Amino acid sequence: MPFVITSPCIEEKAADCVDVCPVDCIAEGEDQFYIDPDICIDCGACEAVCPVDAIFHEEEVPEGEEKYIQKAIDFYNNR
Ligand code: SF4
Repeated sequence: MPFVITSPCIEEKAADCVDVCPVDCIAEGEDQFYIDPDICIDCGACEAVCPVDAIFHEEEVPEGEEKYIQKAIDFYNNR
């Protein structure tokens, strides 16, 4: 999983990332948006436009935010 959307997206859901993703791999969930780990091409475009700095490369996810990696995996597994 290259990029992950973390807690600042909760209840914010600005959706700027959806517009810039070149492979259309960001989907809206109930409380946040999610990046499909199987489709993301690791371009970083979404990270640059997120107004609440919610998007991180998997290896740079801040401490305490790690659960959002699994949350995204679960979201796509349960669709
Ligand atoms: Fe889409 Fe690029 Fe963000 Fe991956 S890193 S979700 S491909 S905009």
